[in-house]
Amino acid sequence: MIFNDRKSLLYASPPQALIDAEDDWQIIARTPVNKKLIKRKVYKGTIRENGRDVHKIRDILCIIYHNKCAYCEAINCEPDVEHYRPQKGVTESKVHSGYYWLCYEWSNLIPSCADCNRPPGKGNKFPIMGVHETKPYFLPSGELDKDKCRADKSPLINEKPYLLHPEIDDCKQFFKFHADGRIEGIDSEGRGEATWKICNLNLETLLMARQSVLDDFVENIKILIVARRRNLLKTTNDFESALKLYFKKLDKLTQPNQAFSLIATYAREHFDEMIISLIKGDSYQNIISQAHKKYLNGTL
Ligand SMILES: [Zn+2]
Repeated sequence: MIFNDRKSLLYASPPQALIDAEDDWQIIARTPVNKKLIKRKVYKGTIRENGRDVHKIRDILCIIYHNKCAYCEAINCEPDVEHYRPQKGVTESKVHSGYYWLCYEWSNLIPSCADCNRPPGKGNKFPIMGVHETKPYFLPSGELDKDKCRADKSPLINEKPYLLHPEIDDCKQFFKFHADGRIEGIDSEGRGEATWKICNLNLETLLMARQSVLDDFVENIKILIVARRRNLLKTTNDFESALKLYFKKLDKLTQPNQAFSLIATYAREHFDEMIISLIKGDSYQNIISQAHKKYLNGTL
């Protein structure tokens, strides 16, 4: 899970499909009874354009999130359009009707793969540290107060959700990784821990996928070690120059358009812990570690 500020820039305004649903939205927001009027086709619907089905909301979210699940970072070109605050009920509160008034709220819509979004993944889970908002706010005109529907503003932000929001929270600050691909929460409030548990981010398939990001990199380093031992890379300088090419590849893996970029970012910043530990016992450990330090400070 990584921070994504794109919605605050190019895509700050809601897509036309949500604007077109304005009248229905106003009616739905008036009472929880009206949540039965929520239409999935507003946020999941398609229109026919140039002979193909265009997903009005999903396609925009895919652009913003580089075709990745917002929670686990797996590449997914056909994600669910997930409601960050669940619209039809809240697992942690038997009396909560769900955030029905946020059904068509842009800041509440996030692309998510089925594993993260559907039970035993997130579902309707939405634990918070504060008090759940249970109903919307209205303007003196009687219209829904849209400003108070935004995930990044009061009163919703004051709920202090445990689940990180990829467009509000600097996700990187909340997690550490292990060389076997495991993700762990590290913040004192427990939000990182809660987020991986809510979205099931230590699912076996995710562990393997994240581990393979590291394994591929380590395998390449091991090949260079063999080349150096066989004198195919004749000097330490030759060895370091070859290493540099792979360090650059690791940099590329940290880019937001890459699957599981956060573990690559963590590995880059905790190189000894995540990479050197995987070539344990090798006499080249120290040379590689020092070379990476030189690379990071620009002297390699
Ligand atoms: Zn996912």
